[in-house]
Amino acid sequence: MLFTVITIKAQHDTSIVFIWNIDSTIVMDVRYATENNFTGKVLYPTDKVYIRNIAGKALAEANKYLKENYNLRIKIFDGFRPISVQRIMWEIMPDDRYVADPSKGSRHNRGAAVDVTLIDNSGTELDMGTGYDNFTEVAHFNYSDLSDEVKSNRLLLRETMIKFGFVPIETEWWHFDFGGWEKFNIIDFEMN
Ligand SMILES: [Zn+2]
Repeated sequence: MLFTVITIKAQHDTSIVFIWNIDSTIVMDVRYATENNFTGKVLYPTDKVYIRNIAGKALAEANKYLKENYNLRIKIFDGFRPISVQRIMWEIMPDDRYVADPSKGSRHNRGAAVDVTLIDNSGTELDMGTGYDNFTEVAHFNYSDLSDEVKSNRLLLRETMIKFGFVPIETEWWHFDFGGWEKFNIIDFEMN
């Protein structure tokens, strides 16, 4: 009986964890820990990605599937984002086309969203038509003027993420919410 309770708890583990504690083959490229991001400022004190445990496990499953079937891997740009960082972003760019209003919060602030792309064995990103955090309509998933290769790369990323419980959005090919994100609170958490 006790064992059952513990098992259920583990399956619903919503703690915030370092992604490499789940899968160290997921490559991290945290632009917000550098000046190479749309704000031009260092926003994160660490270049480590944190995520809700349950979402991280789903991402690890997606990564395993990509490795086994396509010889590809996931590179992650962002996962959990502290609400304090959201406020700083909003001060720099108070425009909700680009940045979620901190009074409402982003799904990243719940630790239940990821920004990801696909990389090959040499670590090279697959061509997705734009870079990360490109806020033009070329980054929209259904933008029509894209090569067949770009369309197929975007589709593979999207279909894989959906298969493992993530939900895409139309305006950013790299962004996926974890299904059930609304169950997770907006929180602050000291990343280091
Ligand atoms: Zn995102």
